[in-house]
Amino acid sequence: MKTAKIPATNQQFLIGKIVCLARNYAEHAKELGNETPAAPVLFMKPASSVIGDGDAVRIPPYSQECHYEVELAVLIGKQARNVTADIALEYVVGYGVAIDMTLRDVQNQLKAKGLPWEIAKGFDTACPLSDFVPASAVADPNALKLKLAINGEMRQNGTSSDMINRIPQIIAHISAIFTLEPGDVILTGTPAGVGQVRAGDVMTAEILSVGRLTIPVS
Ligand code: ZN
Repeated sequence: MKTAKIPATNQQFLIGKIVCLARNYAEHAKELGNETPAAPVLFMKPASSVIGDGDAVRIPPYSQECHYEVELAVLIGKQARNVTADIALEYVVGYGVAIDMTLRDVQNQLKAKGLPWEIAKGFDTACPLSDFVPASAVADPNALKLKLAINGEMRQNGTSSDMINRIPQIIAHISAIFTLEPGDVILTGTPAGVGQVRAGDVMTAEILSVGRLTIPVS
């Protein structure tokens, strides 16, 4: 079982489902040649895909092209079903940094056939996840700087203010489909600048005032 930790408050949650948004930043949707969707595009990663700071991503043998995507992670603290956007942030207990590891070659083949993405997005080690800061420590989750570097070289440098769907709207939308439980995590999409990592690379992902991850690739 994987846990999400909030060291500042000594809270721990068993991680439940991880609900992810695709194409939530217009510039990133464009760089992959995708249309900007009207409603959020959702997919899930299993909790078994989570690794922590310092753990290694292992690229599965069925892929030749593994991509990084730095994302703001939202940790749910109480059950949310059909919540409206105006009260949605009350259900958030913490914020963290995630990297949505994606087997782009596999995903593109699946997309072309209209098949689901799980094996491209949910494999073991596909979800590096930092510890969380308390939600109360983040004044505005849509005003955070997200960065990702490979071997010290900056690749992604974005801001959560560029999200198409903002955190309250995301929670309202998801909670009308899937009841959110304590320990569930939402990955909110990635800004532009995604690209490939190879065995031997080291990723550093950071969201200022939220957290940092250092993740080697093997
Ligand atoms: Zn993503």
